[in-house]
Amino acid sequence: MNLSFVYQGSPAHIVFGEGSSRHVGEWVEKLGASRALVLTTPHQKAEGEAMATALGGLAVGTYDNATMHTPVDVTEAAVARVLDLKADVVVALGGGSTTGLGKAIAYRTDLPQIVVPTTYAGSEVTPILGQTEGGEKTTLRSPKVLPEVVIYDPGLTLGLSVAMSVTSGLNAIAHAAEALYAPDGNPITALMAAEGMRAIRQALPVIIASARDRQARTDALYGAWLCGSVLGQVAMSLHHKICHTLGGSFDTPHAETHAIMLPHTIGFNAGAAGKELQPVSDIFGGTPGQALYDFARSVGSPMALKDFGLKEIDLDRAAEIATRNPYANPRPIDRASIRALLQDAWEGSRPP
Ligand code: NAD
Repeated sequence: MNLSFVYQGSPAHIVFGEGSSRHVGEWVEKLGASRALVLTTPHQKAEGEAMATALGGLAVGTYDNATMHTPVDVTEAAVARVLDLKADVVVALGGGSTTGLGKAIAYRTDLPQIVVPTTYAGSEVTPILGQTEGGEKTTLRSPKVLPEVVIYDPGLTLGLSVAMSVTSGLNAIAHAAEALYAPDGNPITALMAAEGMRAIRQALPVIIASARDRQARTDALYGAWLCGSVLGQVAMSLHHKICHTLGGSFDTPHAETHAIMLPHTIGFNAGAAGKELQPVSDIFGGTPGQALYDFARSVGSPMALKDFGLKEIDLDRAAEIATRNPYANPRPIDRASIRALLQDAWEGSRPP
């Protein structure tokens, strides 16, 4: 066997288990901090206030305006609050939007971060920060933005809506699927990707039937950790590039865009990366693109980009942006074939 790879583990502390969010205060102290600012979206304001109350004297306040795609003006307002309150650690409680705000604050202030994830987006275990300013989305990679502590408490995900659980779960599967053929992949990321997909594949049908099933919520969050970890460790290709284009330039919603695109991008690459994508076939049953399409449909995922405000006329520009700069991908990319792939995703048709 020709085995040759570079592997780097993450320095972050991962704390996993039901009830583990009760220990946030201990982690604040372990980080040598004593003035936590709790971050949330407006939607999770009450949960943030409850966490600040539970932290008692270790919390100095909350900031509840985390916003999708990390707008720079929101970050600047949050940094002003950090400075005003003399916070020495941020505690991000929520999904990728809240985690993004914590990372953006850390990037500017070097404050340590504790993240308590409540979706399956996976941002908490990546050194990647996406930000928007003036309608442009840019992405940077820096060890400065990788959170120091991640506390996964499945109990906090019981209230995540079924619709969001499905799209966020498919978002996580997308990280794992692209990790399987990443040019810088290694045996550990391959194992984590397959195990992450398996856990989410198993959990989603149970969550649909019973959203508060603790075992399924635990499995899904465990899968999200694995899938997010591989996103943080290896390079992503066509799928993430297209989703970044659609979200950044056409403002399509993050998790839904990933869920809709996944069967099409993986189907596109399946011929060139059949061996690497074998775990997708094994776990979902069938050729990779069609198997993911059938699974997404079976769990009630949205299937068509046209349902998310994207106009057919936008597809030409999306194909142009997504093919403007070269990047590694198993199958060579040209504008005409990406335009055709986008047409299929826009219509929601089953990939060939
Ligand atoms: P989100 O964080 O925007 O959450 C969507 C909504 O669901 C919010 O209103 C949120 O408050 C609410 N919510 C979250 N968890 C909940 C729960 N358990 N119960 C009830 N409501 C809950 O959505 P997301 O998909 O998690 O994150 C998307 C963002 O994350 C995007 O901006 C994306 O770019 C970013 N992201 C970044 C990375 C990275 O590595 N940098 C990776 C994945 C996603």
